[in-house]
Amino acid sequence: MQTARRIAAIPPYLFAEIDRRIAEKRAAGVDVISFGIGDPDLPTPDFIVEELARAAGDPSTHQYPSYFGLPAFREAVADFYQRRFGVALDPSTQVLPLIGSKEGLAHLPWAFVDPGDPTLVPEPGYPVYEVATILAGGEPVHLPLSAERGWFPDFGAVDGAVADRAKILWLNYPSNPTAAVATLDQFEDAVRFAADHDLLLAHDNAYSEITYDGFVAPSVLEVPGAMDVAVEFGSLSKIFNMTGWRIGWVVGNPVAIEALGRVKTNIDSGIFNAVQRAGLAALRSDLPHLPGLLATYQRRRDRIMDVFWEAGWKVEAPKGALYVWLPTPPGESSVRFTQRLLDDAGVVVAPGSGYGPSGEGYVRLSLTIPDARLDEGCERVRKALVGR
Ligand SMILES: *Cc1c(COP(=O)(O)O)cnc(C)c1O
Repeated sequence: MQTARRIAAIPPYLFAEIDRRIAEKRAAGVDVISFGIGDPDLPTPDFIVEELARAAGDPSTHQYPSYFGLPAFREAVADFYQRRFGVALDPSTQVLPLIGSKEGLAHLPWAFVDPGDPTLVPEPGYPVYEVATILAGGEPVHLPLSAERGWFPDFGAVDGAVADRAKILWLNYPSNPTAAVATLDQFEDAVRFAADHDLLLAHDNAYSEITYDGFVAPSVLEVPGAMDVAVEFGSLSKIFNMTGWRIGWVVGNPVAIEALGRVKTNIDSGIFNAVQRAGLAALRSDLPHLPGLLATYQRRRDRIMDVFWEAGWKVEAPKGALYVWLPTPPGESSVRFTQRLLDDAGVVVAPGSGYGPSGEGYVRLSLTIPDARLDEGCERVRKALVGR
């Protein structure tokens, strides 16, 4: 049996060695606390669960859903964009429901990338953009990010000829893993760059509502002219603690929406209608759970920052997403520092190098672990780093 070349082209899973060591520790009886996984620990709000139960009891939800989603769900996404970002969307041509935003992100290159075509992939970043490009036969071209530039690409440093050949420019703010946020000015630069080089700008806004210290995340579609070059991915996963439900959307340029929709009609058969009805109830609500959710994450973020500040780290607390992104001590690699925290504190963090070469020298800590475990983990890290 022989697998396809594209399987061999998928980059190695850099967390494999860490996973092996975690298993070893657990087998040796160590109570390992993981800050490694970004998956909300809090439950989906009751009103959404209740709507799912109601909708699941209605037999009309039991058949194949429409490929293009319930019209009412598309309208709810469009209304959310109007209310939240002041962006007007035509629900029939500029909104496409997805089986989680990852599904759409992974299928997008099938609609835009021919074999050998580059896509521009900022790194460190969410691995899906790179791997999806490879699976479609394209060639990811890294845009290295750095703390100095706020983890935002330096478009002036991109080879113009490569940009002209490229098909997609990926962006993600608030960002996984760097927790960086972007301003509307930065999005303007990205839209201009995409227009200059005839690129599809694909912005992943999965963390749009997860921001701190009063920062309000913009939509890339707020930029004048963005509708000509951009799509934006959104998701109920992080905003409503619904990662297991698998529902999201892509909005924006109608040609891109139509092309992705055409790919999807040949691959999947839509989202369970009861999940869409619950999802539209979530989007039509005034997000009653959100202030409490953000207060919880911000408290956890500050708890982690206190530990590292006490240990001498001079870094700002992040303004968005579900992570703290921290430099390792001078001269210590991401993997080495990760191993030290596991050995000395029984605490798992994600090595930054797993998200791209420019993530070397950083680690990512997730805010999605229950308060008591987070407190215990922080105390152990404090003891390991401060030594008392
Ligand atoms: C969690 C996450 C998503 C959301 O994925 P879903 O498929 O909607 O659950 C998308 N992009 C990034 C960067 C994420 O971290």
